[in-house]
Amino acid sequence: METGTKKPYQVISRKAFLDLMGRLMKEKRVMGPRGRPDQPGFHYFDWVDDPEALTMDYTTTTLPPKKAFFPPTETLLTFTLGNPPKVSESWLEDPFVLVGVHPCDLSAIEALDRAYAYPPPDRRWQHNRKRATIIGVDCLPDSYCFCESLGISQARRPCDLFLTPIRRGYFVEIYSPSGEQMLNQGECSEAGPRDFRDVLDWHQKKRGRFTTRLDANADELANILEMGDFSEIWEDIASRCYSCGSCNTTCPACFCFNMEDDFDWTLNSGVRRRTWDSCQLVDFAIVAGEHNFRGERRDRVRHRWHRKFLYLYRKFGRSYCTGCGRCSRACTADINIADETNRIISAFRKGTGNA
Ligand code: SF4
Ligand code: SF4
Repeated sequence: METGTKKPYQVISRKAFLDLMGRLMKEKRVMGPRGRPDQPGFHYFDWVDDPEALTMDYTTTTLPPKKAFFPPTETLLTFTLGNPPKVSESWLEDPFVLVGVHPCDLSAIEALDRAYAYPPPDRRWQHNRKRATIIGVDCLPDSYCFCESLGISQARRPCDLFLTPIRRGYFVEIYSPSGEQMLNQGECSEAGPRDFRDVLDWHQKKRGRFTTRLDANADELANILEMGDFSEIWEDIASRCYSCGSCNTTCPACFCFNMEDDFDWTLNSGVRRRTWDSCQLVDFAIVAGEHNFRGERRDRVRHRWHRKFLYLYRKFGRSYCTGCGRCSRACTADINIADETNRIISAFRKGTGNA
């Protein structure tokens, strides 16, 4: 932990935390979790200008907080054709705070940091990441969460401050000088033995709440997917899947996008946008000549599992699933990624999934 003068473990009361948020909201924009007034129990990340609107004890959000850096639709530039053409790039410059990020979503941001640093680096992701200070907060799992199986339930990188709920408010871990600078604007005190005991109790409570687990760790899973032939399972999942793409578009660790040029009616000028894309959509892998590398649904299903747990694991040394459970919650066909992954593991161990 890189910190300056403050001890790295502090405690801030809930009221002092809200006061701190209020102060920060006067200086810069703040994005955080809030409840949906139209759908009680559902939460989403949004720009918030009232600290009371923040819901720090939510279970999950429909869309992940990666949208702060990589929005679902983003205008990259405007252009006017001509000789020479005029191009004006569109960049947001204002610094902001992203607050209330759970360990699984912190880990997903770290996964995207790796993927978007891979040459050629994604300048836009990196630019937007540099604009943000991140405050993480710990959570309790529901029946869809399985981050613990992937070793992510205690993830902290790349946050600047991390909060764990305790009796005195929040136990605060400081991870960067900008996190410390931010905390200096609030009233906090050094953590004592009782606060440390509270944190250990919280972690124990969290561990005890997981009801969904993978039957293999990330390394074993990559080997299983590499060695096995799970054609029957892919066919079976494909027979239920609608190819709607909701699993990818709710995923915090998916990073594929589409580019489109949208001309105005003069056909002389327009905007270039990028939008989230999904490898489960039928036209995702279409190339010139209408050739489609994954026109069959079972091939797209197989690709999804290989991408999450094998290809990117080999390439970046980590799973590109964080166990957040969003895809399973969102799937209208009730395809549950943890259940299907355990089926794959079980088939392999029984020898029915061996190539
Ligand atoms: S959300 Fe479910 S139905 Fe839709 S593409 Fe994903 S697995 Fe298939
Ligand atoms: S694949 Fe599903 S469970 Fe895994 S990170 Fe993406 S949305 Fe979450």
